[in-house]
Amino acid sequence: MSEIFGNIKGIKETVLDELKKIYEMPIYPGQLISAEMAVKLADISEFINKEISLYIARDGAVTSITIGNTDSVELPDFDGKRSQSRLSGIRCIHTHLGGNSALSGVDYSALKNNRFDAMVTIGVIGPDFAKSVVSLGMITGLDDNKQLTCEEYGPLTLKDAEEFYFPNIITTLERILNKETSSTALEAVQERAMLVSLEWGNSKGAWTPEDSLEELKQLADTAGALVVGKFFQKRPKPDPAYFVGKGKVGELALYAQQENIDLCIFDDELSPAQQRNLERATGVRVLDRTGLILDIFAQRAYTSEGKMQVELAQLKYTLPRISGQGLGLSRLGGGIGTRGPGETKLEVDRRRIRDRIVFINDNIDKIKVIRTLHRNQRNKNRIATISLVGYTNAGKSTLLNTLTASDIYAQDQLFATLDPTTRKLALPDKQEAVLTDTVGFIQRLPHQLVAAFRSTLEEVNESDLLLHVIDVSHELYKEQSDAVYEVLKNIGADDKNIITVFNKVDKLPKNSELLARLAQKENSVCISAKKGLGLNALLELIVENLQMHSIELNLLFPYSETGKAAHLHEIATVLKETYTEAGVVLKVRLPIELAKKYDEYIEK
Ligand code: GDP
Ligand code: MG
Repeated sequence: MSEIFGNIKGIKETVLDELKKIYEMPIYPGQLISAEMAVKLADISEFINKEISLYIARDGAVTSITIGNTDSVELPDFDGKRSQSRLSGIRCIHTHLGGNSALSGVDYSALKNNRFDAMVTIGVIGPDFAKSVVSLGMITGLDDNKQLTCEEYGPLTLKDAEEFYFPNIITTLERILNKETSSTALEAVQERAMLVSLEWGNSKGAWTPEDSLEELKQLADTAGALVVGKFFQKRPKPDPAYFVGKGKVGELALYAQQENIDLCIFDDELSPAQQRNLERATGVRVLDRTGLILDIFAQRAYTSEGKMQVELAQLKYTLPRISGQGLGLSRLGGGIGTRGPGETKLEVDRRRIRDRIVFINDNIDKIKVIRTLHRNQRNKNRIATISLVGYTNAGKSTLLNTLTASDIYAQDQLFATLDPTTRKLALPDKQEAVLTDTVGFIQRLPHQLVAAFRSTLEEVNESDLLLHVIDVSHELYKEQSDAVYEVLKNIGADDKNIITVFNKVDKLPKNSELLARLAQKENSVCISAKKGLGLNALLELIVENLQMHSIELNLLFPYSETGKAAHLHEIATVLKETYTEAGVVLKVRLPIELAKKYDEYIEK
C-alpha cells in the first residue's frame, strides 16, 4: 500500500510523495517507533500545518498514513478489535503541532474505542525535529465497571521512544484483559510458542535433550501456550551474549516472524542479559525454564501462602532482570505503571521490590506459625498423616479424589495442584487419616523455586507415611521416580515409610511383563486411580503401614477416672466407646510409645 488517506486536498504531490516514503521505513519487531520515522512525520506535519496519523501493525508494517487527526480520520481495515480480551494489534502514531505530546481526550477515546496496542503522540518541535517529544497512552486493564483503564507515559525523547520495547507489555495486558473479561470473552488468548534446547557437556544429566524438551512442552501446554516449533543446538558451551549461537538466533528470528510466534522458551536458565539480547534479536518475548514454571505457579497458586511464595520467587527472579531496556516490571503482570526509563526510577523499582520481599517474608512467617499450630493440633489428635508425592502428572490429585471422593482439580496438565490440599481419608479399620496432595516434582527443578514449595515439602516431612505415585505408562517412569527420590533426599524425607503406588496400569497391556514385575516389588501396589482398580489393596497396605507404628487396645477406665478416658479422645483414635458397669471401655488405636502408659487399664 502506498496511498495517503484523509484530507489531502491542496497538498502538493511532492509532499505526498515524501510522506509515502514512510511506508518503506523499517521498524524492528517490537520497536514502538523509529526516530527517523518520527522526525519525518514531525517535519512534514509542521510543513503542511496539519496533524498526520499513521498505523503500524505488530510486525512493524505501516498499514496506512492519514492526514487529519485521530478523531476525523477514517480508520483503515485492520483485522482488529478481535475480541473483548484482545487489543487490536495496531498502534496509532500521530503528531501534535505546538510541541505538546500529552494525549487529548479525543486521543483517549480513539485509544479505547479501537483498542489500539498504543496511542503514540509526537509533540512536534522544530526546526530540529529530532528534539520532538513522544507520549504514549496504553490500555492497562478494566475497572470495576468493566470499563477500560488507560495510562500515559512520557514525554519521552525520541531516543527513549525508539528504545521502548513493548511486546512484553502487550502480552501482559492481553493476559490481564483475558482474565478480567473471561466471563464474556469467547476466545482465549493462546500464545504461539517455540522451544529451544541447547546441549553442552552434561547439561541435561541423564535426560536426552528430546525428553527434556518434551517435558518443557508439557509445561508450556500447562501454561496455556501452543507449541509450534522446537529447536535444538549442540555447542561446547553457551554463548555468553545469546546463549545459543548467532546463526541459531537468526534462524529463530526468522521462524518467529514466519510463524507469528509470541513466545520463545528456553529449556535452561538464561542470564538477564542473554534474555534481553534474545528478545531484541528475535522480536518476541523470551522465557527460560524458571520463568515458565513461575508463570504456571502464578496462575495456579490459590491459597494465600501459595500466592505469597510464588510472588516471592517471582520478585527474586525479576530483581536482576530490571534494566533500562524498558522491560521492567511488566513481567510481574500489570506492573506497567511502575516502569520507567531513568536509572533513578529503576532504583525506586528495585527498592520497592526489596520492600515487598521483606513484607512477604514477614507474612509467610506469620502463616507458618498458624500452620504449625494446626499441625500440632493434629499431632495431639494422633490422626495419621499421609502425603501423596510423585512426579507431575503421575495421578496424585486423581488418586486423592478417588480415595476421598472430593473434587480437587485434576487435569492432564502439569502442576494442576500447587498448594497442599488436605482431605480426610476413612480407612478400612475405621481409623481416619488425613491425606495431603502435593505439587508434583519435576526434573531439574530451578533452585529459586524450591522455596516456593516449602509449604508442601514441610508437610511431606511431617507425614507418617508417603504414597509415591508413579505413572508406569510413562516410558521414563524410572527416571521420574529417581528424580522424586532425589528431591525427597534433599529435604530429608527419604527415611520415611513409603508405599510405592504404580498408577495408570489400565494403560498397560494385559499380561504385560512389566506389570508382573511391578507386582513383585516390596511395599507396593498396582492401581488405576482413574478406573478405580486396586484401591482396596492400596487401603489395606496403608492400614498395614500405619499399624507398624500403632496398636489397637481395649482399655477400661473406672468411672472415677473418666478424665483419663476423655484425654484419650485427644491423643488416640477411639474406634468404639461402651459404657459398662465397671466403667468406660474404649477400643483405641494409639502409637506404640504411648500405649505403654496405659498398661494398667488394658481390659482383662
Ligand atoms: P498429578 O499431577 O500427579 O496430580 O496428576 P493428575 O491427578 O492431575 O492426573 C494427571 C492426568 O493423568 C489426568 O489426565 C488424569 O486423568 C490422568 N490419570 C490419573 N490416573 C490415571 C489412571 O489410573 N489411568 C489413566 N489412564 N489416566 C490417569
Ligand atoms: Mg495434582
